[in-house]
Amino acid sequence: MSRPVPNPGILDIAPYTPGKSPVAEPGRKVFKLSANETPFGPSPKAIEAYKQAAAHLEDYPEGTSRVLREAIGRAYGLDPNRIICGAGSDEILNLLAHAYLSRGDEAISTTHGFLVYPIATMANGASNVVAPETDFTADVDAILERVTAKTKLVWLANPNNPTGTYLPFDEVKRLRAGLPPQVLLVLDAAYSDYVSRNDYELGLELVATTENTVMTHTFSKIHGLAALRIGWMFGPAHIVDAVNRIRGPFNVSSPAMLAAVAAIEDTAHVRMSKAFTEQWRNWITEEVTKLGLKVTPSVANFVLIHFPQQKSKTAADADAFLTKRGLVLRALGNYGLPHALRMTIGTEEANRLVVDGLRDFMAGQ
Ligand SMILES: *Cc1c(COP(=O)(O)O)cnc(C)c1O
Repeated sequence: MSRPVPNPGILDIAPYTPGKSPVAEPGRKVFKLSANETPFGPSPKAIEAYKQAAAHLEDYPEGTSRVLREAIGRAYGLDPNRIICGAGSDEILNLLAHAYLSRGDEAISTTHGFLVYPIATMANGASNVVAPETDFTADVDAILERVTAKTKLVWLANPNNPTGTYLPFDEVKRLRAGLPPQVLLVLDAAYSDYVSRNDYELGLELVATTENTVMTHTFSKIHGLAALRIGWMFGPAHIVDAVNRIRGPFNVSSPAMLAAVAAIEDTAHVRMSKAFTEQWRNWITEEVTKLGLKVTPSVANFVLIHFPQQKSKTAADADAFLTKRGLVLRALGNYGLPHALRMTIGTEEANRLVVDGLRDFMAGQ
């Protein structure tokens, strides 16, 4: 019996497992710290813009997201003609893969890179080549060693999810310089708003001065608009042209576009969120380290906590223990990190409860 068969590569893709959606136990307040969502929600101005957009739901959106591209251009000092908006940066990543990868090609990502990268690569029939990391951090030499004549694209989240580590801009430039010119370098800056390091940059300069580098960004994290699915990329004109040819003509909804404009203009909301995140990330890292657990130093809005491979003290045990208390972290088995949990920085209440929970867990209570 014959039936439709998906394209080569599709069934090699492991289904994406999103962060657990919390199931409340009776009497337990639930804190979802598993999807890197902001505890603050979006700017009130973004919510207002979203509500206003409800008056015009019968109209198609403006197809190029012009108002949003202009707002992003103002915020970052970029030419709006070199920006494309998408239904989340996930859509942008998939459009890039679709435009530049096909059967027989190779794309490189790192051991604990974002799971969307191998999915986008394999969905287009290309092979996902994995470069090992050093101390949970992308390793430029390991990436360069894996370049072959088939390599078409390199994915790099900077900072990376789920490890929280980053590459200094010098290293990103060294990567670009070492890659052949026909290889597209995709810099995913989803967490850049949380970084305050002198040696970090989003990579805008590299995009502006090369013909083979793009940067993607999102409104899902510090701007708190994950539900609206809105992201963007900045790239060279010829890449913008190619991606625009395959982009759906109305890929971004008007409510998302208008809420994102208000969000990016509310710089006070972003500053508050960044300062809070930094303060609590430092506190959690210190407190959890005191409990005898390893925490990978993070520059993002989450931390990676490592557990011993010892009976009743494993990551899976900790996950079960915390979940009973309504504290939902992210297990990382599908990221090749079965001995770690990722915790999104939450409200002060949530952060304190997790540290108290881990203290009790380690004490065996
Ligand atoms: C959350 C995240 C994104 C954002 O995805 P959206 O589709 O814009 O919500 C992109 N890259 C990484 C590494 C992320 O963790």
